[in-house]
Amino acid sequence: MEGLTQVGDCTYRLEVPEASTFVPAVSYFITDGDGALIDPGPGAAVPALRRAMESLGLRRLDCIIPTHVHVDHAGGAGAVAALCPSARVLVHPRGVRHLAHPAHLIEITQQIYGTDFETRSGTVLPVSGPQLRGVEDGEVVRLGGRELQFIHAPGHASHHLAILDRSQQGLFCGEALGLPPHLLPSVAPYSFHEEDYLATIESLRRLDPRVLFFAHGGADAHPRPAFTTAAENTRIYSRMTLDGLRKGESPAEIALRFVVDVKRRFGLTYAPDGAQLLVTGYEMYFRKKGLA
Ligand SMILES: [Zn+2]
Repeated sequence: MEGLTQVGDCTYRLEVPEASTFVPAVSYFITDGDGALIDPGPGAAVPALRRAMESLGLRRLDCIIPTHVHVDHAGGAGAVAALCPSARVLVHPRGVRHLAHPAHLIEITQQIYGTDFETRSGTVLPVSGPQLRGVEDGEVVRLGGRELQFIHAPGHASHHLAILDRSQQGLFCGEALGLPPHLLPSVAPYSFHEEDYLATIESLRRLDPRVLFFAHGGADAHPRPAFTTAAENTRIYSRMTLDGLRKGESPAEIALRFVVDVKRRFGLTYAPDGAQLLVTGYEMYFRKKGLA
């Protein structure tokens, strides 16, 4: 099936560009036991997920695991859970209420992406209570012949977790290490917390994974330098934003400097809208901390 590629041991990555609101949605399947789905993606990805399950021979799922509840990762969780009634939806405890009652999540997303975001990214349906469960930090769940360990990984959002597949020492890191290939910080308005983000990078580094599976992007089989780069970039753009705010620059002006900087450093063309979201995410964090 187009967009579905094997990236590890019993591990497949599905990219669904047409379901994208902002950056391509990526989901992962682990085809051990009854199967796991990591990051169901937005509601618009559900038809592609069904086709992928068919082509992988998965008739049901044991578990559905959003790395966090932002709609590009978990907006489709309710719809997939309804299609797979025996599946458990395992999520960070702080994400449980958002998936059970998504009204607040929808409201925040409307403030960022517009009131009509569901017409593009698909409808956000609630996950039924009996299927939904919060997982503790360090908790291990069996899937067929392997163990999946959950690691609370706040920073991008307080409800973010990472999943370590111990059989291949593969880490599904969500957005905890930023956006590959350059590992620019994944700074979301409302939910970003810089101190937690940097602490999470260090706690994931200590797991010493052999491979990283990114929620936006692909797999990285040489992950060691990624931790240092991700932390460095987080600090660089944090300083840039804080300096700008203290000089009285507007978020749009700071965003423009960010766009110029990533062009110079990486040859990357970054959409001004995306840059402004990043600056706004930092700004909200600084104001909460009383730093700006
Ligand atoms: Zn996110």
